[in-house]
Amino acid sequence: MTDNNLPKIEINPEQCKGCELCILECPKKVIQLGKKINQLGYTYAEYIGQGCIGCGICFYACPEPGAITVYKKEK
Ligand code: SF4
Ligand code: SF4
Repeated sequence: MTDNNLPKIEINPEQCKGCELCILECPKKVIQLGKKINQLGYTYAEYIGQGCIGCGICFYACPEPGAITVYKKEK
């Protein structure tokens, strides 16, 4: 199956603590802090929906295992 939106990331709202490390580290600046609050009371990060290059930097920057999933381009 192909996905024309790849590469992309998905952020699990319930795993994110809103620390903003991924936002600071993303070279393309395609992650932002949203306005909604998760069940733990944190404002969580969101992918803006386009522009990700699949570098994985946000994944390695994030201290919360499982919060960010990076989907790279299919070869
Ligand atoms: S994979 Fe790279 S470009 Fe994509 S959101 Fe993460 S840091 Fe930004
Ligand atoms: S680095 Fe992880 S915990 Fe921090 S804002 Fe980004 S997704 Fe959320």
